[in-house]
Amino acid sequence: MKVTTTTDSRLSTIDFNNLGFGAGLSDHIFMCEFKDGKWGEGLIQPYGSLKQGLGLHALHYGQAVFEGQKAYRQDDGSIAIFRPERNWERLNKSGARMLIPEVPKELFMEGLMELIRLDAEWVPRGANTALYLRPFLFSSSEFVAARPSEEYTFAIVTSPVGELYTKPVKVKIEQHFTRAAQGGVGFAKAAGNYGGAFLATRKAVEEGFQQVLWTDHADHAYLEEAGTMNVAFVVDGTLVTPALSDRILDGITRDSILVLAREWGIPVEERRISVEEIVSASKNGRLHEAFGMGTAAVVSPIDGLGYHDEIMAIPAPMDGLAMRVKQALSDIRYGRATDTHGWMTKI
Ligand SMILES: *Cc1c(COP(=O)(O)O)cnc(C)c1O
Repeated sequence: MKVTTTTDSRLSTIDFNNLGFGAGLSDHIFMCEFKDGKWGEGLIQPYGSLKQGLGLHALHYGQAVFEGQKAYRQDDGSIAIFRPERNWERLNKSGARMLIPEVPKELFMEGLMELIRLDAEWVPRGANTALYLRPFLFSSSEFVAARPSEEYTFAIVTSPVGELYTKPVKVKIEQHFTRAAQGGVGFAKAAGNYGGAFLATRKAVEEGFQQVLWTDHADHAYLEEAGTMNVAFVVDGTLVTPALSDRILDGITRDSILVLAREWGIPVEERRISVEEIVSASKNGRLHEAFGMGTAAVVSPIDGLGYHDEIMAIPAPMDGLAMRVKQALSDIRYGRATDTHGWMTKI
């Protein structure tokens, strides 16, 4: 790996007491190019501009996928990443759907580790903060014809982050737009999925919600995901979440929460969940909690569901399951609880 370090660190420009989410990018990036059918040498360089021209394939045809993960400053000052192999696996699963060549595991892990070591001072120390890691993979030939690229670039940028949502969110049960269709790319972290969601989200925000609760493409009758999070409900003491499919992203937070809930003896169901079931559970007082699950927000309690012209209030108890799993995951991530699952990888 070839490493070129910066002579002009931007670390002092970051307000670590007011991090927000995703704005300040760290000093260095990792990059590797796929050419002539093989990956070249990994490079670490100061953050800067791309050298490619505007024929860049990814900008025209969107062969582009990404990951989102975090490195945590543990209580003893060391740094650890949460389940990084799962992100590597998923990057390649997303890439395979977009006909992008696989990134070898060593390239992914070594690039990630070296980059975090070099920018270790960018890993924040405040409560609920982390260094957000954004590995991504895009088509980097330069031509304008609708066929797959021959060259690809794998890169990683990082950004110190605080909490995404500090309060419970209100979500709108989407009745018009669709995020993902059967046979499509909803299960992949493909760039276009997010661009395609912005309009629906903007409309929901204009109506007073924070996010869209996506429903199925055919009838908008089944619940699928909450914005860029997986969604779960507590109905009569059972944790229910939509079963994975072509249309649902296989979240690592979702998986980890299901593991913990099952260990705690909480009944878990992964299945289809109709809008009608949740609306009637809410009306009968059987819907105890609803929450989103994802790396950015960890667990995001939902305290309101918008359906047609109605907003249903949902309890968001401080001593409920959402807060319990959030605390348990934090304890593992910041090194306060024993990592019995082997989820943390030390830098
Ligand atoms: C990234 C993402 C999630 C959450 O996945 P995590 O691995 O838990 O971060 C859920 N849904 C969508 C659509 C996503 O893009």
